[in-house]
Amino acid sequence: MSAKKLKLHHKILLALVLGAIFGALFNISKYKLEITYRIDKREAATEVVERWKQIEFVDAETKAVKATFGAEDQLRILSYVGKMSAADKSRMIVNVTPETGEQLSFANVRKIEKVKTIAVLIKPIGTLFIRLLMFVAIPLVLSSLLVGAASLGDIKKVGSIGSKTVGFYLITIVSAIAMGLLMVNTIQPGTRLSTDAREKLMVNFEANIADKIQEETSIDLIDLLMRIVPTNPVEAMSRGDMLAVIFFALMLGVSLTMVSKQKSEPVIRFFDGVSDTMIRMVELILVIAPYGVFALISAVVGEFGFDILQTLAWYVGTLLIAYALHQFITLGLLVRVFGGMNPATFFRGIKDVMLIAFSSSSSAATLPVNMDCCQKNLGVPKKITSFVLPLGATINMDGTSMYQAVAAVFIAQVYGIDLNLGAQLTIILTAVLASIGTAPVPGVGIVMLIIVLRSVNIPEEGIALILGVDRFLDMCRTVLNVSGDAAVTVIMAKQEGVLGKPDPDAIDA
Ligand code: ASP
Repeated sequence: MSAKKLKLHHKILLALVLGAIFGALFNISKYKLEITYRIDKREAATEVVERWKQIEFVDAETKAVKATFGAEDQLRILSYVGKMSAADKSRMIVNVTPETGEQLSFANVRKIEKVKTIAVLIKPIGTLFIRLLMFVAIPLVLSSLLVGAASLGDIKKVGSIGSKTVGFYLITIVSAIAMGLLMVNTIQPGTRLSTDAREKLMVNFEANIADKIQEETSIDLIDLLMRIVPTNPVEAMSRGDMLAVIFFALMLGVSLTMVSKQKSEPVIRFFDGVSDTMIRMVELILVIAPYGVFALISAVVGEFGFDILQTLAWYVGTLLIAYALHQFITLGLLVRVFGGMNPATFFRGIKDVMLIAFSSSSSAATLPVNMDCCQKNLGVPKKITSFVLPLGATINMDGTSMYQAVAAVFIAQVYGIDLNLGAQLTIILTAVLASIGTAPVPGVGIVMLIIVLRSVNIPEEGIALILGVDRFLDMCRTVLNVSGDAAVTVIMAKQEGVLGKPDPDAIDA
């Protein structure tokens, strides 16, 4: 690793810490609301109200009180207003009774929002960084995988690497779920949540889960398999459908070995050039990583309500312990036993990957960085990273599957539902499928959790209990998701006898 790279890593880490401090300093207040209302047809005004004792929604015509909220009800007020139509809003009078001073009344209210702080306003810088990473992903995967497959030579070889990779992925997923179940059954976080806290969580987040429950959340294995073969590869690329792109690139690469060298050579050379260029582009994008990470973390921390972390401390703690054990013990052991690599070397090599995954909460955005780091820092040749990593980003989610299992059991514990061995085995199976079906972008894991809950008849409204801390846990589970991919990449390189060996020139291979 060059000195420049080391410096970048430190910069990202520093940005993460500073971003968290900045976000905490400019945390969004839960005692402030910004009310936008119309004065007349052309003019609107905005007023910030804070420290209210009570906020009341009154029908302007009938004078009937429609809803009353207290000082701690910011979230409930927002979801109440969020569900109103424009017509409903214009019929309402909003009466605000402050802790001190006179009552304020607003008619013709258009919007009620949290008061954004600078920590949240800088979020677009982070979003831009993630978009840059995502935009490299498809051309990078297509070109490197095509060249990789062409250098592997024949379809049998591709098939054998493919099945071994999937096998190792299954091992990491199942061991992650088992670790999660072990921890949640031992620590029993659900029995430690007070009834009072439970009711508060349900009331506060009930409204926010309605849209999640309605999302299409079924998993059809046949459908999943069918989707691997796109009817139109260009459309699959434009949709960013990774499994379909992988299939297309593999087919192209393998077929290229079947035409004359005179014809295949320029094609492979071209895509090899594209792939190298894309890797350079990733390095270029990483130059702004510290700014992106700062903005992303500052926005998350700025928006986060810290008291909920306290309420759910047992649940969060259980997951964090299980995450850490899987990350450093299970993955470390697998890398040592099957990959012959010192775990310390492995984790040092993927530091950037872990940091970007944590700040972006997206395996897809982290994929280009993972490919770069596995090649440069861990000595895995391109023909392995280009196949194993994109596949892993899509189907291998150790963190998400573990999270889904732990969350399901936690909710069951809160509701006092007893889960026997059969139910826990069902959870393992559905969590494997649900995590395979989870898209590698922020916040999808909790939607797919519904499948796991349904499989063992746990009330799906239970996700209201854990929604408040999901953003933070999503960041952590994404680290595990990408680390598992990197571990299997090292293992596969070792199994194929190419770990630490520079890429043979694809064309001469
Ligand atoms: N954010 C996760 C990922 O991209 C998916 C999830 O669990 O929500 O890997």
